[in-house]
Amino acid sequence: MLKDTTLDYAQSLDKQDTLAHMRDHFAIPKQANGENEYYFTGNSLGLQPILAKEAVMELLDAWGKHGVKGHFEGEFPWMPYHEFITDFAAQIVGAQHKEVVMMNSLTVNLHLMMASFYQPQGKRCKILIEDHAFPSDHYAVESQIKHHKLNPAEHMMTWQPRDGEELLNHDDLYQIIEQQGDEIALILLPGIQYYTGQVLDMKTITEKAHAKGILVGFDLAHAAGNIELELHNWQVDFACWCSYKYLNSGAGSVAGCFVHEKHATNTQLNRFAGWWGHDKSTRFKMANEFHAIPTAEGWQLSNPPVLSLAAVRGAYETVILAGGMKKLREKSIKLTQYFRSLLQAELGDKVTIITPEAIGQSGSQLSLMINVEGLDGKAMFNAIEAKGVTTDWREPNVIRAAPVPLYNSYEDCFHFVRILKECLA
Ligand SMILES: *Cc1c(COP(=O)(O)O)cnc(C)c1O
Repeated sequence: MLKDTTLDYAQSLDKQDTLAHMRDHFAIPKQANGENEYYFTGNSLGLQPILAKEAVMELLDAWGKHGVKGHFEGEFPWMPYHEFITDFAAQIVGAQHKEVVMMNSLTVNLHLMMASFYQPQGKRCKILIEDHAFPSDHYAVESQIKHHKLNPAEHMMTWQPRDGEELLNHDDLYQIIEQQGDEIALILLPGIQYYTGQVLDMKTITEKAHAKGILVGFDLAHAAGNIELELHNWQVDFACWCSYKYLNSGAGSVAGCFVHEKHATNTQLNRFAGWWGHDKSTRFKMANEFHAIPTAEGWQLSNPPVLSLAAVRGAYETVILAGGMKKLREKSIKLTQYFRSLLQAELGDKVTIITPEAIGQSGSQLSLMINVEGLDGKAMFNAIEAKGVTTDWREPNVIRAAPVPLYNSYEDCFHFVRILKECLA
């Protein structure tokens, strides 16, 4: 239980915070009164890193200066532009260099990965997802099943929380795998569930699935840039993430894709192909005989939108500048624990936090439900927003608030709780 709920204490924690200076690397939106917003929406759209803006401006300058020659000239030529980000991306998700590529957007990449890794055959035709999957993932899976002329009602399985519970219980999943594993072709799950903020045990899920011959992919929209990942060591088959949430590269920016080495180097693997995935040394021979690059890059289709990649480069570089995910996660654990205990100390059971408390089972985000007779959560979300607290609302009943270690302070958390308390009174 938190003993000290004062502003002084929050400020003293900020003084001890070795990452506090990173806040100066971001543009913080202002309230109407000129004060900084209390921004808790990094789980939805991260703030703009100064380095991202600089990289975009540099790119615009290079375009103006070089025209088509910009593909090969300047400090960051466009031809290999995505390669300037690979190292950062690999560090952020715990991958080898050859296992990652920045391309397309998240849902597109999920489709490309399923084109390769969902190959229904014989008895093994099903895809398992979670019951409350993000709609885009749900639609992607459903349409992939239909694409193979199969029936989603029969071939899409779901793992759901037990009656009356919000969180997924891993034992239930392991039981499904044990009992019906030989009918499942692919398991596609989030690394962190977007509604509850629950972190799934990606390592064990992958192990158990592989033991039954099932391939495993993760949607890391809420995990990349939030928690430490070891995709290579965990033997995950593929993973996709967007870069605009915890990775701060701007709305709709270029997404990331991980293909495990054991598949990435297999140029014979079935895929939807395009010229940017073709062997770089012969790409411009225009010979119409596809030779996949023997890395994750072999899944690229088009020459990428370099303006967006520039923002991604600056944003990922900011994460590395902060010392990488280990460092960020250390602060994140402290910051979110402080936030949680202050909420509990000040608001008691007026607010229920559905996000699990154990350190390995949650990231930055806490999902809050308002528990006061006659007050609805949506109205409370609007009330705190009018006082400068930016969070996001998710139907049916949750305020999601994520103090993120790159730019949120302990003082931000203090004000969040103060304002919510005022609004609840
Ligand atoms: C944010 C999010 C998406 C968004 O998909 P886009 O293709 O980037 O528009 C998809 N799935 C999950 C789980 C998300 O959290």
